[in-house]
Amino acid sequence: MIPAAKPIIGDEERAAVDRVLKSGMLAQGPEVAAFEEEFSKHVGGRHCVAMNSGTSALHLGFIAAGIERGDEVIVPSFSFAATANSVVLAGGVPVFADIDPKTFNLDPDHAESLITKKTKAIMPVHLYGHIAAMDRFAEISNKHGVKIIEDAAQGHLASLNGRNTGEFGVVASFSFYPTKNMTAGEGGMVVTEDAGIARMLRLLRNQGQEIRYQNEVIGFNTRMTDIHAAIGRVQLAKLPGWTATRQANAAYLDANLKGVVTPFVAPNSKHSYHQYTIRIPGGDAAKRDEFMKRIGEKGVGSGVYYPTPIHRLPSFKLDLSLPETELVIKECVSLPVHPSLTQSELETIVSVVNEVAASL
Ligand SMILES: *Cc1c(COP(=O)(O)O)cnc(C)c1O
Repeated sequence: MIPAAKPIIGDEERAAVDRVLKSGMLAQGPEVAAFEEEFSKHVGGRHCVAMNSGTSALHLGFIAAGIERGDEVIVPSFSFAATANSVVLAGGVPVFADIDPKTFNLDPDHAESLITKKTKAIMPVHLYGHIAAMDRFAEISNKHGVKIIEDAAQGHLASLNGRNTGEFGVVASFSFYPTKNMTAGEGGMVVTEDAGIARMLRLLRNQGQEIRYQNEVIGFNTRMTDIHAAIGRVQLAKLPGWTATRQANAAYLDANLKGVVTPFVAPNSKHSYHQYTIRIPGGDAAKRDEFMKRIGEKGVGSGVYYPTPIHRLPSFKLDLSLPETELVIKECVSLPVHPSLTQSELETIVSVVNEVAASL
């Protein structure tokens, strides 16, 4: 079976963990500081604050950006639940907007139409590694005085007009969960241009203290360990090469797949292909599921991200009309695109997908 996702862990990651274990200093320390500095080079030199997960990065990012009880934050419903959960954890209210079905990302026009007096921020998600329409969101931000926050959990090294994800929002949060384009085992990173926000993030993640036992604010313990940071540093060094391989794999699939809708890439954007997500046209989830079952029988793994929009999950249960989201959840399916695919596996994916799509 060609798996839908595959973390790549090599000897360098093992050696890095061993180095930290031998040092005897396991908690947040010099490895975390080095990881933050190295990550900063990929986000225009902005401040980087490491966390124990992408969800913590989003949660504390909202608090540091000034989201307070009752503030509305507009988010897509077509995302991982953590996108909206983190708004609630920070005391805010997620307001779910629809997506642009071409890019699968938050639709700026629909998001703008949902702005009220209570709206404090809009958080687009760079879903699947396609950067959201950040130029449009900047206009909306200027016009209405709302903050833009990025859920960049899937967006490592995606870009628009030469600017990477993380370089647009008041804060941006990345994830290093094992299936993301790079991993630290678990982990997250908050990126910001604002030194005050960066300082608040450092306080919040460490019990509110900069100097030990002089707690300034009510804080958390969401520190990253040096063990995780050591893995992250090795993976970060490999990330540009892996991203180029994902892009080459995607280009091969784009050129050869037939009978399915291949991923769209917006002008002046670079897709980093966290997922290679196609659509099986027809708005028929049973047909899509049959497609997945049949390619699976022929050895090609796939996944649906995400089968239920967040607003309809038992944790939210909201009755909303988001037609593009409802259509896309029935048609989308992600194929393997990860950097360890061989040429022969890519050829297998193409022949199996084309054969099954033609016979549906
Ligand atoms: C993975 C992910 C998160 C959460 O990151 P964790 O590191 O798993 O906590 C948040 N948002 C999106 C869009 C994600 O894909």
